[in-house]
Amino acid sequence: MAISRRNFLKGVAGSGVVLAAGVPSAEARMSKQLPPDAVGLLYDATLCIGCKSCMVNCKTHNSVPGGALYKEGLAPSITDSFLCRKSEKTEQMESPPYETEGIDGNKGIWDAAQDLSGKTLSIIKMYRNGSGEKKDSAVNGHAFFKQQCMHCITPACASVCPAGAFTKDPKNGIVYYEAYRCIGCRYCQIACPFNLPRYEWSAVWPEIRKCQLCRHRIKEGKYAACAEYCPTGATIFGKATELREEAKKRFTMKPGTIYNFPIQTMHSKETSTRAVAAYADKIYGLTEAGGTQNLMLSGISFELLGFNKDIPNAALPDLTWAYIAKVPWVFLGVFLSGTALHIITSRKDRNDKRKGGQP
Ligand code: SF4
Ligand code: SF4
Ligand code: SF4
Repeated sequence: MAISRRNFLKGVAGSGVVLAAGVPSAEARMSKQLPPDAVGLLYDATLCIGCKSCMVNCKTHNSVPGGALYKEGLAPSITDSFLCRKSEKTEQMESPPYETEGIDGNKGIWDAAQDLSGKTLSIIKMYRNGSGEKKDSAVNGHAFFKQQCMHCITPACASVCPAGAFTKDPKNGIVYYEAYRCIGCRYCQIACPFNLPRYEWSAVWPEIRKCQLCRHRIKEGKYAACAEYCPTGATIFGKATELREEAKKRFTMKPGTIYNFPIQTMHSKETSTRAVAAYADKIYGLTEAGGTQNLMLSGISFELLGFNKDIPNAALPDLTWAYIAKVPWVFLGVFLSGTALHIITSRKDRNDKRKGGQP
């Protein structure tokens, strides 16, 4: 029997979970078209040198060591969360952008995140084959790639969230998360076709974490920190429509053509002049899941880089909700199995450390 969203919400509320009052409809929280002032990132892997300045500055401007607390307006206190109200507090970053918490006997080690997590909202990973000598070559080569929320034009996460914790900004199209609404069901994680939102498993009051496209900085007249601090122009920030045109232009250029690649933003006066590489495959994000505001170019096929090749070109939200609403037990199943898995792996980690003689 199909279960309406209203009935689902009643069921959840009946099970003891108190939802924030006045949950906006999914339709009000997302658009099906690119908003006119939509912004985004263009990541061109052929320009990336793997320096991870983007990652470090993502942490600096969005998180603190061991906590990933969002800055002003995005980081409700526990009291705020209980009272279902937006935070007024101002978070000032004073700590350096590396994580030290929880690394026994090795305090002060630089952050070397292996994957996205509650503490790492964007990540640079590396592909390597054979001798790894040649940049952007699938054979005997290496390449870098960047992962963070893609800011879908029609975001599945916003569509399935029963508490209205995800919203797509109607003006700039940024898909943002409000912790004070979140009930921790983690439907968003199941729904995201790119598998990008992460959950703070170890936190006392866990939240979902993902790139918010530095929304707090845009409000201050700045732009995405990863683009601002990228020295090569591999990550640039701009209007989504212009980034689409820029990506298409590069993609169709003859390899070897000399081109002025903008650094930091689409219309930056600072450029890097170099030959255009041979791009593989496609412009990632142009059509995937109905299209995304963040786009990627690569010299190596996205499938080889580990990207899901089965993401359809259609927008997913209606489909996703239609599926999940028919199987509401998924809610409980995901919650329990995820929690059980976390307990088991945490216990195994502790046992391994004990066997290895660590405290
Ligand atoms: S990439 Fe995933 S988390 Fe980001 S907007 Fe799209 S569905 Fe939501
Ligand atoms: S735009 Fe996203 S990935 Fe880039 S610094 Fe901001 S939060 Fe991090
Ligand atoms: S995207 Fe830019 S800042 Fe990030 S690793 Fe590549 S070159 Fe460095």
